[in-house]
Amino acid sequence: MKAAAFDYIKPKALAEALSLLAEAGDDGQLIAGGQTLLATLNMRLSEPSILIDISNIDELKGISLLGDQLRIGALVTHTEIEDSQLVAQHAPLLKAAAPHIAHRAIRNLGTWGGSLAYGDPAAEWPACSLTLNATMIIAGPRGERRIPAQDFFIDLYTTALEPDEILIATEIPIATSNQVMYFHELARRHGDYAIAGLAAVAEKRGNVLSHCAFTFFSVASTPLMAIKAQGLVDGKPLTEELIASAVAAAKSEIDAIADITNSVETKRHLIGVLLERGLKHLIA
Ligand SMILES: Cc1cc2nc3c(=O)[nH]c(=O)nc-3n(C[C@H](O)[C@H](O)[C@H](O)COP(=O)(O)OP(=O)(O)OC[C@H]3O[C@@H](n4cnc5c(N)ncnc54)[C@H](O)[C@@H]3O)c2cc1C
Repeated sequence: MKAAAFDYIKPKALAEALSLLAEAGDDGQLIAGGQTLLATLNMRLSEPSILIDISNIDELKGISLLGDQLRIGALVTHTEIEDSQLVAQHAPLLKAAAPHIAHRAIRNLGTWGGSLAYGDPAAEWPACSLTLNATMIIAGPRGERRIPAQDFFIDLYTTALEPDEILIATEIPIATSNQVMYFHELARRHGDYAIAGLAAVAEKRGNVLSHCAFTFFSVASTPLMAIKAQGLVDGKPLTEELIASAVAAAKSEIDAIADITNSVETKRHLIGVLLERGLKHLIA
């Protein structure tokens, strides 16, 4: 199939993009890297009458260090994250996760902001942003607002973004010197969307983990943190018994849903497999 006809405009400034979006109302749609949107246009799952291409807007570009926060612009590509020294040093979880996103050609075009705004529960960046306690910075006709990642992903492909708003950047607290991380996903082939995945960080002192954040993705309608499992592990020596308790807690607290090929039971089993591997990796 081919996309329905649409007008196309490529503003150079954020203010211009916001006024075009407000003017277009329900008929307008933003396009960044196009790696999700072009497929949905071609399948006619989306039929905007005007596409507003934000890929030329400098205010949405770049990775920078602002005090103890790493700021990642919405237009930063998956490849830029994968190759960034700042990311490797201050948010190593993102560097570990990036190669799991599709293939290099898609990563060269697809953007950080596009992935977060789309809110795919199987995507890597929403889960990582939750684990790293990111703050979403959003611009709209009513000014700028900031939303913590935990309030941003509302439901399947649904975020806290209003239709007239643009995600401009994300700020992430930089990793502490004793932060350890684990990122793993179970997929049929490398580059496929995960059947289930885990993005985890903690602070490690000896055999004790604290400030734990364990986020599962591709198991429910949004990425989900295993709050009870985190609480169980936090601040105690990590024994085999504690790992078993945390695994049981995560399997029962995450309200897994089936996808077209994997049952709820499979998803729940994989949550346990991932957390057990993750905890052993974090403490090693
Ligand atoms: C074959 C294939 C495999 C893929 N595999 C994976 C994978 O394994 N993991 C994964 O995470 N992704 C995967 N993707 C998706 C890819 O990562 C996309 O790049 C990403 O989901 C969207 O980024 P984009 O810049 O391309 O957004 P676009 O396609 O341009 O836009 C996506 C949506 O977000 C909106 N949007 C974009 N930017 C903004 C913004 N700044 N503010 C507000 N709204 C905005 C658009 O209006 C649109 O609704 C795959 C894509 C393909 C084609």
